[in-house]
Amino acid sequence: MTSPTPLIAGNWKMNGLAASLGEAKAVAAGIGSAKARVAICPPATLIAQAAWQLKDTKVAIGGQDCRAEPSGAFTGDVAAEMLADAGASLVILGHSERRSGYGETDAIVATKVGAALRAGLEPIVCVGETLEERKAGQALAIVTGQVRGSLPAELSGKAFSVAYEPVWAIGTGLTPTVPEIEEVHTAIRATLIELFGEHGETAPILYGGSVKPSNAAEILHAAEVGGALVGGASLKADDFLGIINAL
Ligand code: PEP
Repeated sequence: MTSPTPLIAGNWKMNGLAASLGEAKAVAAGIGSAKARVAICPPATLIAQAAWQLKDTKVAIGGQDCRAEPSGAFTGDVAAEMLADAGASLVILGHSERRSGYGETDAIVATKVGAALRAGLEPIVCVGETLEERKAGQALAIVTGQVRGSLPAELSGKAFSVAYEPVWAIGTGLTPTVPEIEEVHTAIRATLIELFGEHGETAPILYGGSVKPSNAAEILHAAEVGGALVGGASLKADDFLGIINAL
């Protein structure tokens, strides 16, 4: 089994104006011989500029969501083809802020994954339990259920990653212990192998939720952790580089 190349992706969420691209350029300038692939997912308004300004660097650009349909009367939405056309090569799908704020179900996420693949984008599919679900001992069942429901069969043979993001760890400064992360990642790996056979052995499983330079090394070196999805700490180049260089 070949180890997948880790992926460290920054999710800027609804943060960033044109001037913020200086941070992205500083990340590109500071990467050096990083062991991970690196991506930044800025707001949709910045994708084209970011892709242009970082085109000859090791930083890939991603979207944060897409609509499943390729075009149509969907005011305010962005199609996967539009992200690719603007220069994105990846897209985050099923983030818990989309699942909870916009009612995105596993089935909707799976449809978006299909659209992303048709547009040539590499999906980063997010899953994760709430605190109530963890306290009720349901974390593994919830997360593996989301993996089964959100990852369509057409991912077989395609580049993709899964991001385990416990909802209670996002933006809170709280993180699961390393054994807790390893337990969930091991369960996700088993589910990926069940779904995709040999291909399921190599898709990176990212951890996301309050990753910062001070905790990155222990998280990134945990079993079955194939990188990180980073929110707040990806907004400043120094912090994001501290995470990238922790690997
Ligand atoms: C995220 O929103 O994907 C995330 C991981 O956020 P943070 O790193 O700020 O917890």
